[in-house]
Amino acid sequence: MTTLAPTNTTTSTATRPLRVGVLGRHRLQGAYTEHLYMLQRLGQTMPLEARIVKTAAELDPAQIDALIIPGGESTAMALVAERSGCLDALREFVHKQPTWGTCAGMILLSTTATQTKQGGQNLLGALDITVQRNAFGKQTESFIAPLTIDGIAPADQPFEGIFIRAPIVEVAGPHVQVIGKVDGDHGLQHGERIVAVRQGHLLGTSFHPELTKDLRVHAYFVQMVREALGL
Ligand code: GLN
Repeated sequence: MTTLAPTNTTTSTATRPLRVGVLGRHRLQGAYTEHLYMLQRLGQTMPLEARIVKTAAELDPAQIDALIIPGGESTAMALVAERSGCLDALREFVHKQPTWGTCAGMILLSTTATQTKQGGQNLLGALDITVQRNAFGKQTESFIAPLTIDGIAPADQPFEGIFIRAPIVEVAGPHVQVIGKVDGDHGLQHGERIVAVRQGHLLGTSFHPELTKDLRVHAYFVQMVREALGL
């Protein structure tokens, strides 16, 4: 009797689930459990694995295909990343691999930030945008607003944008696609402001989709990951 050798013993992307990491060391660093939960929900309908990423060694394309950098406090997140020796690995990862930054995560991904603390803050310099931190005002100016987002939420099915001491994108570079704006009077801002951008393998949102029940932005990001991997 002959035994057939398995035709594929490698873990190519065609045979294994997508692996999406969520940066999160400590709860204070950001709302990462909510992102994990959203990815786990998506994982019920497709081969997808969500992992918490805590160390520089885990920021390795051999271990994760993509990364979500959650919200929180970008100054503190940058400091923790630096002190824990993750900053260089993070920089290297986000310049190549699909990465989505929500709120403080988008600030970290950016090339330029305004209204930073004295002395400035470390940025990853990958997403070619100028972000204004705390653009709507203080915590009390947090708000919820319906958003139309290109490729994600049409006008008749808007996305519930949850803004918590959120930044806005003041300037978007030539290769950055503006995919979402908020409109109306919100704290210090009046009129249309850019709150969602895409630049190739990078996605940035000022708001927090992980605090809603709506999976559309997470599904969009996972689709970006699939495209980047040629799936
Ligand atoms: N205000 C925070 C910062 O500048 C961002 C807030 C958030 O991520 N919800 O880092």
